[in-house]
Parts: sequence; structure tokens; C-alpha cells
Amino acid sequence: MVIFNTQSPHQTHTLGAALGRVAQAGWVVALQGDLGAGKTCFAQGVGAGLQVSSDVVSPTFVLVAEHDGGRLPLLHADLYRLEQETELEGIGLEETLEAWPGVALVEWADRFPTILPLDHIQISLRIHEENKRSLEVQSVGAADEWVKRWAESIGSVHG
Ligand code: ADP
Ligand code: MG
Repeated sequence: MVIFNTQSPHQTHTLGAALGRVAQAGWVVALQGDLGAGKTCFAQGVGAGLQVSSDVVSPTFVLVAEHDGGRLPLLHADLYRLEQETELEGIGLEETLEAWPGVALVEWADRFPTILPLDHIQISLRIHEENKRSLEVQSVGAADEWVKRWAESIGSVHG
């Protein structure tokens, strides 16, 4: 497991941007943690790193948003408002994730873990005091290499 500590929304955004810069087609990232932990903030960083042309926002009614115009297409899903697994089947998210040609981020993925493909990165965000957050990163399936690639890119940014 890799743990990143951040002291500000900007730092969390920067971690996401680093992932967006090095991500490859097929990367799926599950984001979990309480409301306000910084999942969307991180997702916005990923969008910036990929240079997508539309803003990544906190969805209210939309469960799944697609962002094009970047190096790879970004899928951003938020399962917070979803009540039942049958609703998920209705939108076909599992199949979409399986075949997505870019990067996929799923907030509150822990609510419906069975929709995730085997290979994915899991990030658990924790709120500490005020602006402090920690990101616990775990790789599942073949995602070891993904986390390595991401972590190395951060190392090189900070020297
Ligand atoms: P979530 O999607 O997990 O509900 P958001 O990213 O929408 O969370 O919101 C995170 C909130 O916490 C924002 O208001 C942001 O300004 C604040 N915040 C404070 N410190 C941090 C930090 N280190 N990283 C991310 N967000 C932070
Ligand atoms: Mg959110």
C-alpha cells in the first residue's frame, strides 16, 4: 500500500493531475471516503492531468459523466445517490467500465464493489484535521504497475 498525505485541496488536485498525466487506457480508479474527503477534488486533478475540455464537477443527478478532448477520455461516475444495484444495471455501468477506452473514476465505488473490473486502483481518502487528508492507495489485480508508474511520476516531480 502507498499512502500520500496532503495538506490542501491544491495538493490533492496535484496528485490527481499526476495520475492523469501518466494514466493509460483501461485504468479504473475506485475512490472512497466520507463526504468532503476530496474524491471530486482528486477527480478534477485527473481531468486536468488528462487535459479534458470540460469541467469535472460533483454530480447531482448525473451518475456518470464523460469528458472528452483530452489525451484519453475520462469517465467520472459517482454512486452516492444510487440506491439499488438494479439502477446500476439500468445504466450499464459495469459493461461501460469493462470496455472504457480511457480512464475511469468511480466515487463511492465501495457502495457497489461488484461492478468494478478485477484490475483497478483503490484509493481511500481520510479526513484528518482541517485541510489534512490521507490517500491510501491499493492495487487490485494487475494494477501494481499502474500505482508504481503513478508514484514514480510524483517522485520525479518533487525531485
Ligand atoms: P468528496 O467528493 O469526497 O465529497 P470534495 O472533493 O467534493 O469531496 O470536497 C472536498 C472538500 O474539502 C472541498 O471543500 C475542499 O476545499 C476541502 N478540502 C480541504 N482540504 C482538502 C484536501 N487536503 N484535499 C482535498 N479537499 C480538501
Ligand atoms: Mg464527490
